[in-house]
Amino acid sequence: MDLLEKIFDAGIVGAGGAGFPTHIKLNCSVEYLIVNGAECEPLLETDKYLMRTEGHKIIKAMEEVAKKIQAKKLIIGLKAKYKEEIKALKRTIEELNSKVELFLLDNFYPAGDEQILVYEITKRSIPPSGIPLDVGVVVSNVGTLVNIYEAINEKPVIDKYVTVIGEIKKPCILKVPIGTSVDQCIKAVGDTLIDDYAVILGGPMMGNIIYKEETQKEFITKTIGALIIIPREHYIVERKELPIKHIINRAKTSCIQCSMCTDMCPRNLIGHKLRPHRIMRSIGMSEGNENILMEALICCECGVCELYACPMGLSPRRMNIYLKDELRKKGVRYKKEQGITSAKEIREYRKIPVNRLISRLGLSKYKGISIDGPFEVKSHRVHIPLKQCIGKPSNPVVSVGDMVSRGQIIGKVHRGQIGANVHSSIDGKVCEVSDYVVIQSDDNEVIS
Ligand code: SF4
Ligand code: SF4
Repeated sequence: MDLLEKIFDAGIVGAGGAGFPTHIKLNCSVEYLIVNGAECEPLLETDKYLMRTEGHKIIKAMEEVAKKIQAKKLIIGLKAKYKEEIKALKRTIEELNSKVELFLLDNFYPAGDEQILVYEITKRSIPPSGIPLDVGVVVSNVGTLVNIYEAINEKPVIDKYVTVIGEIKKPCILKVPIGTSVDQCIKAVGDTLIDDYAVILGGPMMGNIIYKEETQKEFITKTIGALIIIPREHYIVERKELPIKHIINRAKTSCIQCSMCTDMCPRNLIGHKLRPHRIMRSIGMSEGNENILMEALICCECGVCELYACPMGLSPRRMNIYLKDELRKKGVRYKKEQGITSAKEIREYRKIPVNRLISRLGLSKYKGISIDGPFEVKSHRVHIPLKQCIGKPSNPVVSVGDMVSRGQIIGKVHRGQIGANVHSSIDGKVCEVSDYVVIQSDDNEVIS
């Protein structure tokens, strides 16, 4: 069986958040294989943990992937401040006599956005609405590489490493069966320090927010790498829950057209024609200029404009998300521009220092906390979504009442489809098949 078949069978999707099926991404030939170890969202620790402890798997998997995609340059991009991780990876590279190189990044946000990472390493700007493949590059997250190593040894994706931090008794990294509820994860680390809280699923800049009462109905998937517990009245929660009507009204009445959002926009700085201040002005007019509104389609939703740049507390990012949705409903697509765009010279001076970002976000009290783990959570009931990636949901191949074992396939996609197979993460009995496959075992939940 070749590498792509093994990856397909194992149900691997991008572990860094986007969730693109890996067997499709790697069906190409390119010059560069770049592994994203930047972990640029504040407070996250999962990828650093993997680079410290699973370097052998990452490097071995990189060598195998590079053979498949004929990449000549194999590079892990990580921050120069990750001293321990650099030491561990260098040692492994030497032991394995590998040609993998390390590229050391400054500590800025969003160093891990794949377009920014590609620019930093290759000095090639991916065209607006393009992908790294357009400039001869494949980018994969370190967690994805660990999963590829396991797939080579015929192990599917059934567990996820998750950073749990914030208002929590025992900040740590958990190894969790996919489908475990967020509530179980929080209880497994000794519960919270406050009664009323919200949870960011992922990083504070781009993650989704749920409330305490929703934690039993939200489940760990192949793409959730962190749970950040913050007070419900936190600034980040307030900003993310503003209704779109309110956001539009505020854009019309309060935008002073200072253009800070555009000046700091990482995509604008690598040469893309994305000008959030013009989008905000266009929205303020009775009929928006569609050419300008279309620029929203190339926004990566990094959040710099609304959580860092705007002095008026406005939300260009949320506006862009809303516009993307509206334009897509109308069937409007961004026309992929040909040719390589070029970055602005000022870019170097406009990188956002992560420490300043953390303080702006009001998260300083959680910075630098020592993180324990990994602790393994053994869940007795899992809700495994049949769709955990971009593309089609998998088709269930089990029925209510079936006994399944950990690692057994429970949802399948066809090989040519954009989608990924799904496997059971525990031994147990199937008790529901809907958008989820719910599996129940007799064991009690355990943390070890
Ligand atoms: S979220 Fe804002 S800063 Fe980030 S890419 Fe979109 S417009 Fe630019
Ligand atoms: S930074 Fe804020 S106030 Fe300034 S142009 Fe952008 S949205 Fe308007």
